[in-house]
Amino acid sequence: METITKSPEATYQLGEKIGASLAISHQPSVIALVGDLGSGKTTFVQGLAKGLGIEKKIISPTFILMRSYKIQNTKYQILNLYHVDLYRLEGNVAEEAKNLGLTDIWGKKDNIVVIEWAEKIKKILPKETKWIKFENMGENERKIIA
Ligand code: ADP
Ligand code: MG
Repeated sequence: METITKSPEATYQLGEKIGASLAISHQPSVIALVGDLGSGKTTFVQGLAKGLGIEKKIISPTFILMRSYKIQNTKYQILNLYHVDLYRLEGNVAEEAKNLGLTDIWGKKDNIVVIEWAEKIKKILPKETKWIKFENMGENERKIIA
């Protein structure tokens, strides 16, 4: 499905909607985000976290690679959201991701992992991964293909 958002809030709301449906289905457990800097990936993740029931503010993990958030509402047995940003990783990124423990993390059913710049580790991502693509269309316009 393709959506054009015309504000950061609209992108946040799309994330929130997808987060809310994830909270129910819990499928898939890996969400791979692709798109240039400033295309709205982090904004989307903030909405996604809200939709999952996380109240804490999500900040970009760019400088620390990965942050995890406990999901308060365990009614759906979802316990953790991992927000990963591979922007700064270079070289054998798949190997580094494994060293980070990512493959173990997404192998556990109580974790949801959302990854910015996920194309860098495409070869090790589970085949059920949901890919979402972001494109800059103009100052406030983003095309989001989910
Ligand atoms: P990324 O994580 O892809 O680098 P961010 O979400 O951090 O992108 O940043 C997106 C930037 O673009 C923010 O400064 C935001 O205010 C701005 N922006 C403008 N229009 C939109 C839109 N429609 N959706 C998302 N962000 C937008
Ligand atoms: Mg980002």
